[in-house]
Amino acid sequence: MWLAALRALTLTAAPDDGLDPSVAQKLITEAVDSRGAYALLTQLVDATGPRLSGSPGADRAVAWGVEQFQALGLEARKEPVLVPVWVRGVERGEVLGAPGRPATPLALTALGGSPGTPPGGIEAEVVEVSSLAELRDRGATAKGRVVFFNHSMAVAADYKRFGELRSKGPAEAAKLGALAALVRSLATASLRSPHTGAAQFPAGGRSIPAAAISVEDAELLHRLLAKGPVRVHLELGCKILPDATSFDVVAELRGRERPEEVVLVGAHLDSWDLATGAQDDGAGVAVVVEAAKLLAKLPVRPRRTVRFVLFMNEENGLRGAKTYAADHGADVDRHVAAMEFDAGAGKPLGVAVKAGPGGAAIVERWLPPLVPLGAGVLSGEEAGGADLTPLAPARVPVVQLIQDSSRYFDIHHSAADTLDKVDPEAFSKTSGAATWLIYALAESPEVLPRPPAPPPAAASGTGQ
Ligand SMILES: [Zn+2]
Repeated sequence: MWLAALRALTLTAAPDDGLDPSVAQKLITEAVDSRGAYALLTQLVDATGPRLSGSPGADRAVAWGVEQFQALGLEARKEPVLVPVWVRGVERGEVLGAPGRPATPLALTALGGSPGTPPGGIEAEVVEVSSLAELRDRGATAKGRVVFFNHSMAVAADYKRFGELRSKGPAEAAKLGALAALVRSLATASLRSPHTGAAQFPAGGRSIPAAAISVEDAELLHRLLAKGPVRVHLELGCKILPDATSFDVVAELRGRERPEEVVLVGAHLDSWDLATGAQDDGAGVAVVVEAAKLLAKLPVRPRRTVRFVLFMNEENGLRGAKTYAADHGADVDRHVAAMEFDAGAGKPLGVAVKAGPGGAAIVERWLPPLVPLGAGVLSGEEAGGADLTPLAPARVPVVQLIQDSSRYFDIHHSAADTLDKVDPEAFSKTSGAATWLIYALAESPEVLPRPPAPPPAAASGTGQ
């Protein structure tokens, strides 16, 4: 039993870290036994629905977040963020019939940020590439055609490897005169459901209609193209509306001894529009709110201030995170650590750290209570989080709970990102592990040394 193991560990192997091991036991036991984060997640997805920036669902999520923190007796505020507003419309496409084969509908969905097609859609020949370098090599063949970005994503780690085909591929194809782009879904499983995500079109550049197609349809296109020319028809009714005002939700548990030192704990409130975003990032939001609840209930407040931030617009602009970093200016120098939860609802596996020399050794002392949860190891990965990237120039140390993401990209950014895919037991362990790490950051006598400054280009990114 994990509980007996936890008790044995916390009583016999109290780490020399100035932290009370009974607090670890209390926080973790309550998170796991009550399954409070799962209850919050259920409430969030059912009460708000899909939460794309600028949508009514996002507005409901902002109100929900404020309400949750206020119900805990915490000070909560809405910090304004100007967000892009993109709306999906009709979307359909097909492979046109040819001698010896029928026309076949394509399972597709527009990529966020895509413009629509002219009424009636477009029709053109397809050219397949598997990398941005190959696209550049093919140069002129893209002109007047639909560029099809194919790849071989098979495991979660491939998301980083192939992600630029979706985020940058359409804009690169536009530069070469392509009429539209089709991108194979970034997915580790498919029941013919396309996975959306942001396509970035730099301001002032040309933008073209861009859609994700299901893995099965990408395979079909690839087979047909091996035999000869293929033409497709594509119609997208999506459009970009004027920017609108939305909000980051910010709440604080003021520190009892060093209130000026801030531990930032974040997740993003927005989701894609195809589903309720139970894992991306409803799960992260629920972990953060549950941590606030458990920490607020402690008889003695942590030494430092814990600032809970529910960011808006991570998915298609990162405006919430950028606005937070800009608006908080000098205040960001007083952030002694940051954690973001944006990796689904899988079980906890370990802890990653981004700090200066000696930082990992400090975090290592906090690991024994995580051993019974299966997460008592230091990961070699560098800790991160898309919403934390604008804080990198201020060299804020980052700690990340590494979670099992082996099945996350089966449903990520698709219509299947719904509550039923969440395992309440695994998720509750993640909630417990998260709450303990947040407490340790806020209570430990030592602060983590700041990491070296990143190269200037590293402080960007969107849509994890
Ligand atoms: Zn996310």
